[in-house]
Amino acid sequence: MRILIILILVLVLYYMLRGLFRPRKGERVGRSHPNVGEGTDNELVKDPYCLVYVPVNTAFHTKREGKDLFFCSKECMNRYLQERKDNSSDAG
Ligand SMILES: [Zn+2]
Repeated sequence: MRILIILILVLVLYYMLRGLFRPRKGERVGRSHPNVGEGTDNELVKDPYCLVYVPVNTAFHTKREGKDLFFCSKECMNRYLQERKDNSSDAG
């Protein structure tokens, strides 16, 4: 009767191993992106005014309509915001 116990153990092991190697549904294949957000200081951001990439820790940051904007210089920031102001002419 001992052979039965061994067989069952082997079967259980087999199913466990199969479960390990089976691709899981709902899980994305490929590398996940590292968390991009606050705290990263060597990330490049694009200046929407002069289209130059600048490190986020030296960029001039402002928020506009809930979006984060980064500029290479204060001048770019001011000019960009000034142009935006002229474009969006609301009644008032
Ligand atoms: Zn710029």
